[in-house]
Amino acid sequence: MPNRNPSPRQYFSAQWVLPVDRPPIEWGFLAVEDNRIHSVGPYANCPPSAHCSAPIPGSIITPGLINTHIHLEQSFSQPIPKTLQQSFIDWLLAVIDSNRGQASSSEKLTRSRLGVQECLQSGVTCVNDITSGPESIQAIQEAGLRAMVALEVFHPGYEPIQIQHWLEAYQKLQKTSALTPLITLGLSPHSLYNVSIPAWQALKQALQPAFLHTHLAEFEAELDYLAQKPSAIDQLHQQVLGQSFTVQKPLLSPVQGLLEDQLLTQPTILAHAIHTSTADREALRGYPVGIAHCPRSNLALHGQTLRWADWENANIAVGLGTDGRLSTPNLDLREEARLAQRLHGWTSAYALQALTLDGAKVLGQTHQLGSLAPGKQADWVRWQIKPSTEQDCPENQVLDPATTVQAVMIEGQWRYQREH
Ligand SMILES: [Zn+2]
Repeated sequence: MPNRNPSPRQYFSAQWVLPVDRPPIEWGFLAVEDNRIHSVGPYANCPPSAHCSAPIPGSIITPGLINTHIHLEQSFSQPIPKTLQQSFIDWLLAVIDSNRGQASSSEKLTRSRLGVQECLQSGVTCVNDITSGPESIQAIQEAGLRAMVALEVFHPGYEPIQIQHWLEAYQKLQKTSALTPLITLGLSPHSLYNVSIPAWQALKQALQPAFLHTHLAEFEAELDYLAQKPSAIDQLHQQVLGQSFTVQKPLLSPVQGLLEDQLLTQPTILAHAIHTSTADREALRGYPVGIAHCPRSNLALHGQTLRWADWENANIAVGLGTDGRLSTPNLDLREEARLAQRLHGWTSAYALQALTLDGAKVLGQTHQLGSLAPGKQADWVRWQIKPSTEQDCPENQVLDPATTVQAVMIEGQWRYQREH
């Protein structure tokens, strides 16, 4: 006798199903089974036993969006604006001053919760978060968001290398993140100007993180500092840490520093990457790296962003990130995509790919995230357009600011449903 137990498979329909790795399906369905995507196809092919309701006009299903660079615990209600007169270092010092002594654990938790909700409400199902403690992990866990979370580390000195404090902080994160399979833990040496190479190596060796996440080639003073030239970073170290630090040997560039010292042997996300040379990008080819591109934060803080075509030519994956709410007015990743379209001439189909599949590439997660392919995790979003955009192509409709997130599913579970 055939097995007649009811199938746990669930069917969902929409006017448009956009798998991203295959052409859009008009009047389509998505089937989910055991927390994974089972199949997608035309609604007409839905088996009658599926009990799949008819697609709602103007509804769209896409993979969940992936934010490749965020600081959830910095989800303040307002960014700290950088004035034209301020250098980036002046701004960083103003940020440090404004938060000094105020970041209690409960405040970080409250801010992280706000950040997590904002992500879900804007269609983000996976974040690559940088954190100083377990609070953001707790907020991520409560909401059932998928995340890669890295402990942010500062250690610009050489002698002695002291990592005990960071080992203990990392163990706290391990303890908290062990409660959910949705979180992968990593290490975030802040940058080469704030973590010396020997400290970086010692931490990597001691913690054996699954991945690394760092700020790289974000501004010119960073390159000067690494080349042992006079740099405003000296002022930063003096004011925050009370002393100067000098790199042991001049580095041609941040990328060359990471490569020479064998720091890119495991999956690494490089945030910003504004100031890189052709030689840098060529040298990175073949390494397990991806670029987190944060156009709004970059324009606000530096007046420029990376040149996307350069990375496209080098065949290195570029995903989108909001950065923290200190430098961006909100955590709506589609705003990054719309700006990237204007800056780099992306089509809306390409922008949707950058928001999903390319984000998964940057995080080394294409085996389970980024498209509506059978076998991948059931992380997806249902959108609803406003009738005024119905003539547009479906990718344009997803990117339209008037289009709203109706529901978000992560690992086969509803994590957000808009109240009508
Ligand atoms: Zn950042």
